[in-house]
Amino acid sequence: MTDTSTSTAAPPDSADTQPGAVPIVDYLVLGDQPHLIAHECTKCSARYFDHRNACASCFGTEFTDVDVPTTGTLRTYTIVSFAAPGVPVPFVAGVIDCDGTHVRGNVINTDPTPENITLGMPLRLATYVVGTDDNGVEAIGFGFEPDTSGNGEAV
Ligand SMILES: [Zn+2]
Repeated sequence: MTDTSTSTAAPPDSADTQPGAVPIVDYLVLGDQPHLIAHECTKCSARYFDHRNACASCFGTEFTDVDVPTTGTLRTYTIVSFAAPGVPVPFVAGVIDCDGTHVRGNVINTDPTPENITLGMPLRLATYVVGTDDNGVEAIGFGFEPDTSGNGEAV
Protein backbone atom coordinates (compact mmCIF):
# COMPACT_ATOMS: atom_id res chain seq x y z
CA MET A 1 0.00 0.00 0.00
CA THR A 2 1.60 3.25 -1.09
CA ASP A 3 0.79 6.60 0.35
CA THR A 4 -1.43 8.35 -2.12
CA SER A 5 -1.88 11.55 -0.22
CA THR A 6 -1.50 13.74 -3.27
CA SER A 7 -4.53 15.77 -2.41
CA THR A 8 -5.07 18.31 -5.11
CA ALA A 9 -8.35 19.44 -3.59
CA ALA A 10 -7.19 20.48 -0.16
CA PRO A 11 -9.99 22.02 1.88
CA PRO A 12 -9.79 25.81 2.02
CA ASP A 13 -8.17 26.63 5.31
CA SER A 14 -10.44 29.48 6.25
CA ALA A 15 -10.71 28.64 9.91
CA ASP A 16 -8.47 31.40 11.18
CA THR A 17 -10.57 33.46 13.51
CA GLN A 18 -12.69 35.53 11.23
CA PRO A 19 -14.89 38.06 12.99
CA GLY A 20 -17.60 37.35 10.47
CA ALA A 21 -18.13 33.69 11.19
CA VAL A 22 -20.75 32.10 13.35
CA PRO A 23 -21.24 28.43 14.14
CA ILE A 24 -24.56 26.98 13.02
CA VAL A 25 -24.94 25.21 16.35
CA ASP A 26 -24.03 26.70 19.69
CA TYR A 27 -22.05 23.68 20.79
CA LEU A 28 -19.52 24.24 18.03
CA VAL A 29 -16.66 26.44 19.18
CA LEU A 30 -14.64 28.10 16.43
CA GLY A 31 -11.15 29.54 16.63
CA ASP A 32 -7.71 28.08 16.12
CA GLN A 33 -8.84 24.63 17.12
CA PRO A 34 -12.54 24.18 16.47
CA HIS A 35 -14.15 21.73 18.83
CA LEU A 36 -17.47 20.77 20.32
CA ILE A 37 -18.61 21.34 23.84
CA ALA A 38 -21.13 19.25 25.70
CA HIS A 39 -23.11 19.88 28.85
CA GLU A 40 -22.09 17.24 31.35
CA CYS A 41 -24.27 16.30 34.28
CA THR A 42 -22.29 16.93 37.45
CA LYS A 43 -23.91 13.94 39.15
CA CYS A 44 -23.75 11.11 36.62
CA SER A 45 -21.54 12.58 33.85
CA ALA A 46 -24.16 12.06 31.13
CA ARG A 47 -23.45 14.40 28.25
CA TYR A 48 -25.86 16.44 26.16
CA PHE A 49 -25.40 18.84 23.28
CA ASP A 50 -28.76 20.51 23.51
CA HIS A 51 -29.88 22.52 26.49
CA ARG A 52 -31.36 20.49 29.30
CA ASN A 53 -33.10 21.66 32.41
CA ALA A 54 -32.61 18.26 33.99
CA CYS A 55 -30.56 15.17 33.27
CA ALA A 56 -32.51 12.41 31.54
CA SER A 57 -30.54 9.78 33.42
CA CYS A 58 -30.53 10.96 37.02
CA PHE A 59 -32.69 14.12 37.00
CA GLY A 60 -29.75 16.16 38.20
CA THR A 61 -30.03 19.84 37.36
CA GLU A 62 -26.42 20.95 37.39
CA PHE A 63 -24.31 20.82 34.28
CA THR A 64 -20.80 21.82 33.42
CA ASP A 65 -19.40 22.46 29.95
CA VAL A 66 -16.78 20.02 28.79
CA ASP A 67 -14.65 19.86 25.65
CA VAL A 68 -15.37 16.89 23.44
CA PRO A 69 -12.38 15.20 21.79
CA THR A 70 -12.11 16.16 18.13
CA THR A 71 -11.28 12.64 17.04
CA GLY A 72 -13.34 9.52 17.26
CA THR A 73 -14.53 6.45 15.46
CA LEU A 74 -17.58 5.82 13.36
CA ARG A 75 -20.10 3.93 15.43
CA THR A 76 -23.06 3.79 13.09
CA TYR A 77 -24.05 5.50 9.86
CA THR A 78 -26.64 5.83 7.16
CA ILE A 79 -26.03 6.85 3.58
CA VAL A 80 -28.78 9.35 2.91
CA SER A 81 -29.97 9.38 -0.69
CA PHE A 82 -33.09 11.51 -0.38
CA ALA A 83 -33.31 14.83 1.38
CA ALA A 84 -35.04 18.18 1.21
CA PRO A 85 -34.57 20.19 -1.97
CA GLY A 86 -31.27 22.01 -1.91
CA VAL A 87 -29.55 19.43 0.25
CA PRO A 88 -26.88 17.65 -1.77
CA VAL A 89 -27.25 13.88 -1.68
CA PRO A 90 -26.02 11.34 -1.09
CA PHE A 91 -24.33 12.13 2.19
CA VAL A 92 -23.33 10.07 5.18
CA ALA A 93 -25.15 10.71 8.45
CA GLY A 94 -23.32 9.09 11.30
CA VAL A 95 -22.82 8.80 15.00
CA ILE A 96 -19.22 9.27 16.02
CA ASP A 97 -17.87 7.92 19.27
CA CYS A 98 -15.53 10.62 20.52
CA ASP A 99 -13.89 8.90 23.45
CA GLY A 100 -17.22 7.88 24.89
CA THR A 101 -19.26 10.90 23.82
CA HIS A 102 -21.58 10.12 20.96
CA VAL A 103 -21.80 12.91 18.42
CA ARG A 104 -24.26 13.06 15.55
CA GLY A 105 -22.61 14.40 12.43
CA ASN A 106 -22.04 13.84 8.77
CA VAL A 107 -18.99 12.09 7.41
CA ILE A 108 -17.52 14.57 4.94
CA ASN A 109 -14.58 14.95 2.58
CA THR A 110 -14.88 11.39 1.36
CA ASP A 111 -17.04 9.64 -1.19
CA PRO A 112 -20.38 8.65 0.35
CA THR A 113 -20.13 5.09 -0.86
CA PRO A 114 -20.21 1.86 1.15
CA GLU A 115 -16.70 1.08 -0.10
CA ASN A 116 -15.37 4.19 1.57
CA ILE A 117 -17.28 4.14 4.82
CA THR A 118 -16.54 1.49 7.40
CA LEU A 119 -17.67 1.11 10.97
CA GLY A 120 -14.89 1.93 13.36
CA MET A 121 -13.02 4.10 10.88
CA PRO A 122 -11.04 6.91 12.57
CA LEU A 123 -12.54 10.35 12.04
CA ARG A 124 -11.73 13.87 13.06
CA LEU A 125 -13.76 17.03 13.37
CA ALA A 126 -13.76 19.32 10.36
CA THR A 127 -15.54 22.60 9.76
CA TYR A 128 -16.86 24.03 6.55
CA VAL A 129 -18.74 27.07 5.34
CA VAL A 130 -22.44 26.34 5.09
CA GLY A 131 -23.41 29.68 3.63
CA THR A 132 -22.88 33.40 3.75
CA ASP A 133 -25.53 35.95 4.62
CA ASP A 134 -26.06 39.38 3.07
CA ASN A 135 -23.56 40.95 5.47
CA GLY A 136 -20.82 38.53 4.55
CA VAL A 137 -21.12 36.62 7.80
CA GLU A 138 -20.23 33.00 7.24
CA ALA A 139 -22.19 30.22 8.84
CA ILE A 140 -19.84 27.45 9.89
CA GLY A 141 -20.98 23.86 10.17
CA PHE A 142 -19.11 20.78 11.18
CA GLY A 143 -18.70 17.22 10.09
CA PHE A 144 -16.19 14.46 10.52
CA GLU A 145 -13.61 13.57 7.91
CA PRO A 146 -11.43 10.48 7.68
CA ASP A 147 -8.50 10.83 10.06
CA THR A 148 -5.50 9.69 8.11
CA SER A 149 -2.99 11.20 10.50
CA GLY A 150 -2.74 8.02 12.52
CA ASN A 151 -0.54 6.50 9.86
CA GLY A 152 -1.42 3.04 11.06
CA GLU A 153 -3.39 0.27 9.51
CA ALA A 154 -6.88 -0.22 10.76
CA VAL A 155 -7.30 -3.45 12.60
ZN1 LIG B 1 -27.24 12.89 35.36
